[in-house]
Amino acid sequence: MIDVSVVVHPAVADRLALIRDSTTPSALFRRTVEEIGGFLAYEATSLLRTSESEVQTPVGLARVARLTSRPVVAPILRAGLGLLPGFLSVIDDAVVAHLGFYRDPQTLAAVPYYANVPDDLSQRDVFVLDPMLATGHSGSAALRALASRGAAGMTFVCLIAAPEGITFLRKGHPSVRIVTAAIDERLNEHGYIVPGLGDAGDRMFGSTSSVPVALPS
Ligand code: URA
Repeated sequence: MIDVSVVVHPAVADRLALIRDSTTPSALFRRTVEEIGGFLAYEATSLLRTSESEVQTPVGLARVARLTSRPVVAPILRAGLGLLPGFLSVIDDAVVAHLGFYRDPQTLAAVPYYANVPDDLSQRDVFVLDPMLATGHSGSAALRALASRGAAGMTFVCLIAAPEGITFLRKGHPSVRIVTAAIDERLNEHGYIVPGLGDAGDRMFGSTSSVPVALPS
C-alpha cells in the first residue's frame, strides 16, 4: 500500500495559503515554495539511515549519529527546481540528478527531454521533487526512469497532490512514499489541480508556458 504523509503544521499551512493566492507575485511565490520545500524535506528524509560514532567536543566525548550515505534528489524540470534549495538546506550534500519532462497540453502525457542520473541507484535513497502531483504522468515516468537505474527506496515530494495522481502513482509504483503539504479535491479537464495554485512553474518563473521551444541549431 502506498504511503502518503501530509505535513500538517501551522507554518506550512500559512505558506501554502500565500502560494495558493493568485495575487502573490513570482518572487514571493518562489521564496515561499523554497521554504515549504525545507519543511517537506525535513519530513521526507526522516527515515534516512544513520550510524553511530563518537566526536570529541570541547568538553568531552559525545555519541553522535551521522548519515550513512548521500541520498540522491531528482527535481523534475522545471518546477521541481523550486523545491531544490529547501531540500538542500536540509541535506546539503545530496547528489542532484535532473529529469526533464514537459506535459503535452493535448494528451497530458509526460514527454521526456533531458535526464542526468547516476548510473547505479540501487544503494541510494532517492527523492523526486515536483510541486504538483496532478495526473501523475510525469511523476510516474520519473520514478520509472530512476527504477531503471536500480532505485528501490523512492520518495515523491510535492506541495499539492490530487487524488487522481496518488492513484496513478500507486498503480505503477506501489512502494513509493509520497510526502505532500496538501491533498486537494480533483483535477479539472485541463489536468490542473482544483483548487491548487495554478501552474507552479509559470508562477515561479514568470513564464506563460512550460512547453520547450525549438531553437535554431
Ligand atoms: N502542474 C501545475 O503546475 N499545476 C497543476 O495544477 C497541475 C500540474
